[in-house]
Amino acid sequence: MEQADVLVLGLGPAGAAAAAEAARRGCKVVALERKREPGLPVQCAEFVPAMIGLEVGELNGAVRQRISSMATFVEEDAADRQADFPGLMLDRAAFDALLVARAVRAGADCRFGRQLQRLTPEGVAKLRDGTALRARCIIGADGPRSQAGRAIGSVNTELVETRQVTVPLRRAHAATDIFLSADIPGGYGWLFPKGDVANLGAGVSPSRRARLKPILEKLHSGLGDRVGKEILATTGGAIPVGGLLRPWGRLGETLVLLAGDAAGLANPVTGAGIAAAVQSGRLAGEAAANGDAAAYQEELEDLFGAALARALRRRRELMEQVPTKAALRRGWIAYPEYWQ
Ligand SMILES: Cc1cc2nc3c(=O)[nH]c(=O)nc-3n(C[C@H](O)[C@H](O)[C@H](O)COP(=O)(O)OP(=O)(O)OC[C@H]3O[C@@H](n4cnc5c(N)ncnc54)[C@H](O)[C@@H]3O)c2cc1C
Repeated sequence: MEQADVLVLGLGPAGAAAAAEAARRGCKVVALERKREPGLPVQCAEFVPAMIGLEVGELNGAVRQRISSMATFVEEDAADRQADFPGLMLDRAAFDALLVARAVRAGADCRFGRQLQRLTPEGVAKLRDGTALRARCIIGADGPRSQAGRAIGSVNTELVETRQVTVPLRRAHAATDIFLSADIPGGYGWLFPKGDVANLGAGVSPSRRARLKPILEKLHSGLGDRVGKEILATTGGAIPVGGLLRPWGRLGETLVLLAGDAAGLANPVTGAGIAAAVQSGRLAGEAAANGDAAAYQEELEDLFGAALARALRRRRELMEQVPTKAALRRGWIAYPEYWQ
């Protein structure tokens, strides 16, 4: 059976960052990704805070445009504008590819079109192609429905389901537009500009999934001539919104660490998880090299615990009843009430 020091499951931002860090620290790293190429198909609205540069460094061709502000539309009210909201709109596939290229340069063996079928209780990874791998440490960076997480009993039980279309954008725009409404239960709508196109999407609680299409059609038609009628692409996916999970466990002798969405690090209110995925991935790579899982858990709690707990609280408050406009504002990061 093939052996590695570190086996990384998934090559999204968390897995690529983890593979790079563990390889830089001298580990023999094998990373498996079921997709045939990095980041494709894209399942993302592609916004990141400008601060991500501190973690990721040079983004080269992965940035599509800059964002300077946020406009929040509560029900039919005029927009509330937050001027100081610097961010970047990514080409998410190029971003994921950039991180994978760095992992490969660091010495990680990154394999695409390779799907984990199951992890045995002893920590052996059985692949769909019939092969098997064993490692001293497994990093589960395999997204919101992580099999690694399931194997150690850390499961994202609260999810948001999303649907997103890409549409032509008729006028240049440098804000992220957010749509809050009692008609978008458990989530919100968004319009994020990318040059001459925009990502228009919505997320809701899974029980309301059937309403996603009409919600999105209503948002689309409500934008009038700001956007074209054509649908250039459609995507979607699940976002974990239940907050931080216990990010490690053991399968026999094998240490299992979780990073990114697998660890429940997406923000329960905004759904943003790219920056946390990259940061937690790097820390998981470090912990895989030094074997200190408790320190890894502590670092995640220090870095993300308070923000995730607040967002979870706000989300649960919103879910308690049909929200008023005041409740919608209290449940969104642009408003001081959110932070009180
Ligand atoms: C519609 C939508 C819009 C979003 N918009 C934003 C946004 O604008 N900004 C933001 O910050 N976040 C956004 N997010 C969240 C963000 O995409 C995630 O938080 C981020 O991708 C998490 O990175 P990750 O590496 O943990 O997981 P992922 O990016 O999900 O990567 C996990 C990888 O594991 C692979 N994998 C899974 N199972 C297996 C298996 N059995 N074998 C092999 N490989 C496997 C998957 O193919 C995938 O490539 C959005 C999410 C969705 C669904």
